[in-house]
Formats: sequence, C-alpha cells, structure tokens
Amino acid sequence: MPTYRDEALVLRTHKLGEADRIITLLSRRRGKIRAVAKGVRRTSSKFGARLEPFSHVDLQFAEGRSLDVVTQVESLDAFGPALTEDYPTYTAGQVMLETADRLVVEEGEPALQQYLLLVGALRVLNRGTADGPRPASMVLDSYLLRALAVAGYAPSFHDCARCGVVGPHTAFSPVAGGVVCERCRPAGASRPSPDTLELLGALLEGRWVDTRDAQTATAREASGITAAFATWHLDRNLRSLVHVER
Ligand SMILES: [Zn+2]
Repeated sequence: MPTYRDEALVLRTHKLGEADRIITLLSRRRGKIRAVAKGVRRTSSKFGARLEPFSHVDLQFAEGRSLDVVTQVESLDAFGPALTEDYPTYTAGQVMLETADRLVVEEGEPALQQYLLLVGALRVLNRGTADGPRPASMVLDSYLLRALAVAGYAPSFHDCARCGVVGPHTAFSPVAGGVVCERCRPAGASRPSPDTLELLGALLEGRWVDTRDAQTATAREASGITAAFATWHLDRNLRSLVHVER
C-alpha cells in the first residue's frame, strides 16, 4: 500500500466499530484528512493518547480504498492537557477546532494558511504572545477574524465595507461585512467605540503588541462584534461559541 507523511492537528474523533476511531485532521500539505486509527480505544494502544482533539502530530498514513489508515504517530505539541485546566481557554480552543473544521470543507485540498493559523492560535492560547499572555476570548477573536479573512470573508474595520469610501467610520454591520459609511448604513447597525474598532483591526492583522493595553470593556465589545460577524458568516451558530465567557 502506498504511504505518505504529513503534520496535522486533530480536530475531532469518533468511534468506529469495537476499538477503532475515525480521526478528522487538518494537515499542513493535504488540508483536511479523515483517516482510520485502528485499535486506539484499547488500553494497550501505542498511539491512542496522541490522537485526541488538540494533538499536533506528525503522522504516517497508508492509503486505503475508502479511508486512509494511520500507521505511525509522533507528537509535536500536546495542546490539549494545558487547555483542559481552564474552562474559558478550553472552550475558546474548542471553537477554534470547530471553526477550522467548518471553513475547510473539501478533503485533500491544501489549506496551508488555515493550518498555520490554527496551530499559531493554539500556541498563543497555551503559551501567550511574545510580550505576555492575552485573555482566551481575545486569542479566539483574533483567530476567528483571521480564519474568516483567509476563507474570503475579510471584515473591514476602517473603510466602508459596502462602497469602499475611506474611513474611519462609526457604524458596524456584520451583514455588510464590517464598518459602513453613513450612506451605506443598514438599519440595525451598531456604533462601537473607536477604541473597539482599533482593537478589532489589530486582532485581524495579528498585531498583538497593540492589544496589550486594551481595556476590559473594549475587549468585551470587540468580542461581541466578532461573535456577531463570525456567526453571520458561518451560516449558523457554532455549537461551542455559546459557551465562551465574554
Ligand atoms: Zn459606504
């Protein structure tokens, strides 16, 4: 049987038969992969513990007729154990996995940027940024905005999302795709504070240094806007998003 290797993040697993699992992964080279891990639910399994959600692993696969089979697993990072110690961090991570699963639909289509974003966000969630830790909800917001942008739904926090007229603008509409000028403003658009829009811009661009001094109220408003924007663009509520403490 032909084999191949790839690095991947485990998104979810489900039971198959007596002792096997189907593992859904987001990989560096092949995008989404669903593969069978045989015997992993037996206590004697060599790699069962390495194939849990949040595991970052290097794997070898044997190509199968329908699903490929995992034949080797080496651990790169175990993001899971640290996350389970803190409920807000864990739920933030869970939303990330679910979002990646939702945004990368096709199996076998490379999705390198989504893979790198997810691994990077889980790393920040575990170890903080270069200049210190950030609240889990803020790390999640940055991930959601960037993952949506990579998927083609980049929000605008400066120029009008409808007509492009140069900002800053003060009205925000998730449906319109970001801030809007007064002429384009739909009914029901909100008016976030200028600090909030600035924070959202920094989160979208991954400028962590500009998020260091964000006030709690600003971060909370940014979180609400990100959730509204993400929910709109992901069609229906992410199951785990409702559990995030904001
Ligand atoms: Zn406009």
